[in-house]
Amino acid sequence: TVGAVVRDGAGRFAVAGSTGGSAPSLLGRVGDTPVIGSGFYAGTDGAIAVTGIGEHIVRRLLAYTVYGWIAGGMAVQEAVEQGVALFPQEIDVGLIAVTRGGAAMHSNREMPCAQVGA
Ligand code: ASP
Repeated sequence: TVGAVVRDGAGRFAVAGSTGGSAPSLLGRVGDTPVIGSGFYAGTDGAIAVTGIGEHIVRRLLAYTVYGWIAGGMAVQEAVEQGVALFPQEIDVGLIAVTRGGAAMHSNREMPCAQVGA
């Protein structure tokens, strides 16, 4: 998955994601990436993008779960770490997030991440 989270100059948040899916998988499989609240979520308090094994991410509605913690006042770094901690170590998962307080990423595997600021 390639995910991007942004905050614009007016303080609005947006998220985008794209995935090649996973293999092997069933014909017609829809992973987490195109499902609002699972692979991505953005609202007035921040934006979240997720990567990892979609079948597990969907069951935990991961992006919206992490967003809810942030909207409730949790620091962004703590929120992404707590999100990854919902999964056993053998389930690959990673999160990036941006909020009014800053940006953070966390994963249980080595996953490339770049941050560009304006
Ligand atoms: N989340 C994607 C999926 O399960 C796979 C990925 O992160 O690359 O479809």
